[in-house]
Amino acid sequence: MSFFSQRFIDDLRAQANIVQVIQEYVPLKRTGGTYKGLCPFHSEKTPSFSVNPDRGFFYCFGCHAGGDVFKFLELQEKLGFQDVVRLLAQKLGVPIPEETDSDDGRRDAALREGLLKVHESAAAFFRDQLAGPSGARARRYLADRGIETQTIDRLGFGYAPGGPDALKRRLAGAGFTDALLLESGLVLRRDNGELIDRFRHRVMVPIARETGSVIAFGGRALDADQVPKYLNSPETPIYTKGRTLYGLNVTRASIKELGYAVLVEGYFDFAQVFQAGSAPVVASCGTALTPQQMQLLRRFTTKVVLSYDADLAGQGAAARSCELLVAEGFDVNVAVLDAGQDPDTLIRRHGPEAYRQKLRNSRPYLEYLLDQAAGSVDLGHDEGRRVFLGKMLAVAARIPDSAARDQFGDRIAHKARITEEVVQAEIRKAAVGRRTELTARELPTFGELKSAEKGLIWALMHRPAEGFEALRGLEAADLDTLSGRDVFEAAQGLGGAQEFSPSSLLQRLSTVNAQLVASIAATPTPLAPALDCARAIQRLRCERERAAIQREIDRLQELGAGQHGQEIDRLWHRKKNLLHRIEELT
Ligand SMILES: [Zn+2]
Repeated sequence: MSFFSQRFIDDLRAQANIVQVIQEYVPLKRTGGTYKGLCPFHSEKTPSFSVNPDRGFFYCFGCHAGGDVFKFLELQEKLGFQDVVRLLAQKLGVPIPEETDSDDGRRDAALREGLLKVHESAAAFFRDQLAGPSGARARRYLADRGIETQTIDRLGFGYAPGGPDALKRRLAGAGFTDALLLESGLVLRRDNGELIDRFRHRVMVPIARETGSVIAFGGRALDADQVPKYLNSPETPIYTKGRTLYGLNVTRASIKELGYAVLVEGYFDFAQVFQAGSAPVVASCGTALTPQQMQLLRRFTTKVVLSYDADLAGQGAAARSCELLVAEGFDVNVAVLDAGQDPDTLIRRHGPEAYRQKLRNSRPYLEYLLDQAAGSVDLGHDEGRRVFLGKMLAVAARIPDSAARDQFGDRIAHKARITEEVVQAEIRKAAVGRRTELTARELPTFGELKSAEKGLIWALMHRPAEGFEALRGLEAADLDTLSGRDVFEAAQGLGGAQEFSPSSLLQRLSTVNAQLVASIAATPTPLAPALDCARAIQRLRCERERAAIQREIDRLQELGAGQHGQEIDRLWHRKKNLLHRIEELT
């Protein structure tokens, strides 16, 4: 078992000397309060890698890798967080917590262990049911979908019988308490107090950690009138949806060996591609990829091929996943399938070779976007070129790596037949000025953070008490449109001033955000005082509201001040209050 309490992790971090740990891998030289060396994460001749021992973080000015001591070991040793904690404990000679942990930690660990056992037993029960007489309908369903027995065995598919509480009775008989069964989410309590199975008459797909322990299930309906079609386990102490990639436990070795992963959407896409032996595959199961899923994947590869329906590629969740992957520095290719097709249907209809062909024909995501955009407008006319340029500049502004961004800029220039200098200048403008909420929230870059945000982040890292105090005065609405919102929310989520520390914050951030914070903290000189920054952020919010009210007033006045007099008066009043508040904050 490898569950460490937050207290153990914090203690370990406090004991670790980040300079000593990193020096085992990278020779460092002291310059003032920080240490410098050649970055282990990109090749360079002059040192741009710096370590700040007081604040416990490292940052590379070249490739922007950054984070705390755990993050360094994750990147350097290509290990997951739990393994890194264990490794650091070993390095420091600290006993692993099972023996030393607090009561809370022990209780948590016992609960999680209990939940893993429940899931193991449930998976075995579902497998037995699928093989037995009651599983006939489910076996036929799987056969109809072209899933072979060998694949069923390898992926551990099962069947949840239709009765109200078959699983519950089996698990209770094995000695699991009602409380634990309820906590597992596999059993529900009815209004009348009875306990019943969550999954009934469904094909059961076990969802496992990359190590193979089952932590949740997905259940596919068998009858046409059964809703929902897919029912999933709720989140539990052992299962967080956004941190799991389906199938990684089965394909991780081949992903590492072949150096890339094919990302598909559903369980049956996964099963079909896996069965065909077409590619090392994982499934995101649902919506856009989360930063945590990307961190998980990064341990195995940074090359990803996505196969999407032609109508959906470049839109919605698919586009967001691609953008986030690009922003996190992944190589992303897109294999476009015909409209209405997914890997499952393609392989079943046209065979594995047709799918492999699609994968071979996959193209870099950015090139794909470029062609898409170029195809949708008439580049022979100014208007078409303007639309094309606008779309592509927004994409270019989100590319984190400046060399890759320049290269993309040249491609845009070539396509639109505009000089490269003009395009590059526009990209720089777009990168600084882009304000679209979605991208600002998902893909923060140094350039678009307001100086007040930077100042507050700097304070959180270097003057934690002062920074945290200032942050505490901000409401959710103050943070609403900020690029640094994820960072501030994570800091606020750390609870009281006692729990807050720069490194505990770093540890909770996605790779992109941890880099962002480290890059700001790497500035040696203090920025504006934290309290001033917080006030500036509040002022910005008031100004946003004031502008919105003004727009509304203008609109109503245009419609006719006579009819809307009362409403306009009310808005004027609100505007006056805001102006007053803005003055106070200035
Ligand atoms: Zn570097």
